[in-house]
Amino acid sequence: MNIMKDNALTILNSVFGYDEFRHSQQDIIQQLMQGGDAVVLMPTGGGKSLCYQIPAMLRPGVGIIISPLIALMQDQVSALLQLGVRAAFLNSTLDALTSREIEQQLSRGELDLLYVAPERLMTESFLGLVDRSPLALFAIDEAHCVSQWGHDFRPEYIQLSILHQRYPQVPRIALTATADETTRAEIIQRLGLEQAKMYVSSFDRPNICYRLSQNQGNARDALLRFILNEHEGDAGIVYCLSRNKVEQTAEWLSRKGLAALPYHAGMPARERQHNQHRFLNEDNIIIVATIAFGMGIDKPDVRFVAHLNLPKSIEAYYQETGRAGRDGLPATAWMMYGLQDVIMLKQMMESSDADEKHKRIERHKLDSMLGFSELTSCRRQALLKYFGDHMDEPCGNCDTCLTPVETWDATVVAQKALSCVHRTGQRFGVNYLTDVLLGKDNDRIKNFSHDRLGVYGIGTELNARQWRDIFRQLIARNLLTVDVQGHGGLRLTEQCRAVLRGEQALMLRQELKKEKTKSRTRKQKQGINESNQYLWEALRACRKKLAEQLDVPPFVIFHDATLMEMMERQPQNKEQFARISGVGAHKLDAYADKFLEVIQEHAEKEKRCSSASDTVEETLELFKQGMSINDIAAHRKLKLSTIYTHLSEKIAQGVLSLKEVVDIDEQQIRIIQDEFLNLDEKDAEKLKPVYDALDGMFNYELLRCVRASLESA
Ligand SMILES: [Zn+2]
Repeated sequence: MNIMKDNALTILNSVFGYDEFRHSQQDIIQQLMQGGDAVVLMPTGGGKSLCYQIPAMLRPGVGIIISPLIALMQDQVSALLQLGVRAAFLNSTLDALTSREIEQQLSRGELDLLYVAPERLMTESFLGLVDRSPLALFAIDEAHCVSQWGHDFRPEYIQLSILHQRYPQVPRIALTATADETTRAEIIQRLGLEQAKMYVSSFDRPNICYRLSQNQGNARDALLRFILNEHEGDAGIVYCLSRNKVEQTAEWLSRKGLAALPYHAGMPARERQHNQHRFLNEDNIIIVATIAFGMGIDKPDVRFVAHLNLPKSIEAYYQETGRAGRDGLPATAWMMYGLQDVIMLKQMMESSDADEKHKRIERHKLDSMLGFSELTSCRRQALLKYFGDHMDEPCGNCDTCLTPVETWDATVVAQKALSCVHRTGQRFGVNYLTDVLLGKDNDRIKNFSHDRLGVYGIGTELNARQWRDIFRQLIARNLLTVDVQGHGGLRLTEQCRAVLRGEQALMLRQELKKEKTKSRTRKQKQGINESNQYLWEALRACRKKLAEQLDVPPFVIFHDATLMEMMERQPQNKEQFARISGVGAHKLDAYADKFLEVIQEHAEKEKRCSSASDTVEETLELFKQGMSINDIAAHRKLKLSTIYTHLSEKIAQGVLSLKEVVDIDEQQIRIIQDEFLNLDEKDAEKLKPVYDALDGMFNYELLRCVRASLESA
């Protein structure tokens, strides 16, 4: 037994380059090594694949991995080949000759892992081949595809039950990242896994920061600000509901200087594949997509997922946001939604022609999602609770934890809104209802004689935007619903009676004026500061070059987390390099020299640069001693502008305040700062446009200092 454990750990170290197992990986491996079956529920990024890869390598024979996702199969195999593991895949993308070669490798026992699509596995000829090969195990990936209720149902998966009948001695492992109780039961029953041991990991993805906010007509700008402030140069996915919106958004982001590419089912296949390929193989691509994009994408370093529309269930939200941060490094799930989303989703659901049973499930799912979006408590706690998981304390890494939401007693206001719906006959949309509440003088209201109703003009304490917020929350809380005909008319629901009668108080979110605007300067990435930013970029460039030579995605060479560790530890030789997490024997041989060279070069450059930073320190020292700027310039025989450049550097670092250096009042500061903030992205580094815009009122030295003060904010 212990020998087995040691062996598993040895492989983890020497092949994969990791020190220890995570979650229940070790127990699962042991279960399979002993010939038992396993059902594994683990969130994406939890390290599912190691659970079958290691036993497949340790047990005699080949491990057969059934996966419905062609792209994923290919990525996994190229990653395994990089590690020196004998792996291959068989699917429809291969030509006949290559397929035959792989089948021969299988017959000759030259493979440790073989990935196949389910339809290929089920052919008699392939099963015949499997019959003659020694087998280590079967792994059924994305096992939830067996569920007829799920959104990823694959009929071929039902037939996988024959594996059990045909090869009763071979251990099987079924894995999934998305499964509620019902799906779980279906997996066990349909695949004949009643005897299997069940392993359920927490669904928590602690490195993802969940943030949702309300669209007040500025969603696109807010998205751009979010990307520039927090994720410039990062890979990300932006989800939109329609193809049109996908194209417009991608084009707009591109115009703003970001590398954004569209992806939706209506595009020519070649263009789609090309964009997907770039997303996988380059470091900084933003894919703007409909939900058609994502299945089978296993890119570990996606740093953000943004939604410009509400998904229609929490499962979908969790799955889509789960594509961020698979490498475990910090990532953001950002969403902006509005009244229109809520109305549209309700309409789509009510007018679908699904049977009543299905409709009931869908209605429940949508209501859960709407409830989630309007939460005033910790998002993560609610998310985990939905999946039957539990968390004691608020997480501290979601918007409601970071900026607590205030609530207010909106009972009276809600009563006004609900009465207005009732009095006008339950057939009008939000805009009309708002006009009535505000007592607007328009013909439509007069034609219906609604200006004579008691509710006419009773809502002037709020403005139109605030009324939209109220209506959105009333719909989300199921106090109002949307008509089936699709005109956006609102109707009362059974639940609203208690509020109308005053039996139940209603607490609603106090909406923030705007999504909090942050300073324009880019938030520093975790662990990356000014001095090692260059090393970070150099390591990334080295990885990219290697990836291009080998025609694999960069993360197949090394994950970001591994580069990050290289940057922090700066290994000097191969021995130290081998200790970095993610560096196995094969990768040590293949890449250590290249990366060590980059680290070496960086160290030398640092040495040369430190003399440059000395001169800034000298200026600072004299300034602190009370010497005037003119005197410092004279004393050091340097130009005045050079001294200002030194001091502005210190302002940017927050060492000096703006007012210590320049004589200027608050109002002037604000005028200049506004000009900088209004600059086009491409001019962000320039002073001249601001100088010109202010008619030369302020000199360049002063402008430089004010700009520096923005960076320090
Ligand atoms: Zn939280």
